[in-house]
Amino acid sequence: MEDGKVIVEKPQIFVERTLAIIKPDAVSRANEIEEIILRSGFTLLQKRRVHLTPEQASDFYAEHYGKMFFPSLVAFMSSGPIVVYSLGREHAIQHWRKLIGPTKPKTAKDVQPDCIRALYGTDDTRNAVHGSDTFTSAEREIRFMFPEATIEPIPAGQFAKDYLSRNVNPVLLKGLTELCKNKPEDPITWLADWLLGNNPNKPNVDEPLTPKV
Ligand code: GDP
Ligand code: MG
Repeated sequence: MEDGKVIVEKPQIFVERTLAIIKPDAVSRANEIEEIILRSGFTLLQKRRVHLTPEQASDFYAEHYGKMFFPSLVAFMSSGPIVVYSLGREHAIQHWRKLIGPTKPKTAKDVQPDCIRALYGTDDTRNAVHGSDTFTSAEREIRFMFPEATIEPIPAGQFAKDYLSRNVNPVLLKGLTELCKNKPEDPITWLADWLLGNNPNKPNVDEPLTPKV
C-alpha cells in the first residue's frame, strides 16, 4: 500500500462505521459514486487511494480462500488502484450494503436497478464496490485499510454520556421516582407505560384527534 495516504481525516464520533471500496473497474467513476455516497447521508470519515499487492488482496478476502472465484478476485483486486473509505452514519453497514445492492451485477440489474452495482458493475467479479457485511468485519476491514487510525467501536464515552443525560436521564429519573411511589406489581410494564404516557418528544393527547373533513 505504498501509495496510500490519508487524504481526508475528520475525527468525529458516529454511531456506526463501515468500509467502502471502489474497486479497480469503477475507479474512473469514483467522483460519481462519491456523490451518491454523500447524497445518501454518509460522511466520509477517511479516504485513501491504495494499490493492493496480491498478498494484501488475499489477506483482505481471506474468508473466501479456497472458493472457485478466489484467484480471479485476488487478481482483480490487485490489478489497479482502488479508493477506500470509512463511512459514518446511523446503521452505516446495513445502509451501505443496501445502496450497493446484490453481489452479482446481473441480479442487481433485475432486482434493484438503481443500486450502485447495477449502475457500475460489469460481471460477477467486477462488481464496482465493496461493503462490510457485519460490525465485526467492518472493524477488521477499517483497521486493515487504515491501520494508523484509532477507531472507537462503540459510540464513544463522552458522546454517549452527553446524549443520555440530555435526552433520557431526566425523564427516566422522573419515571423511576413515580415507580417507587406507586410500587406496582409489575414494575417493568408499569414503567414502560409511564414512559409512553410521559414522552417529552410527543405531545400529550387527552382525547383522540378528530379527523379533519
Ligand atoms: P460481497 O460481500 O457482496 O462483495 O460478496 P462476497 O463477500 O460473497 O464476495 C466477495 C467478492 O468476490 C464479490 O464482491 C465479487 O467481486 C466476488 N465474487 C463473489 N461471488 C462470486 C462468484 O460467484 N463468481 C465470481 N467470479 N466472483 C464472485
Ligand atoms: Mg462480502
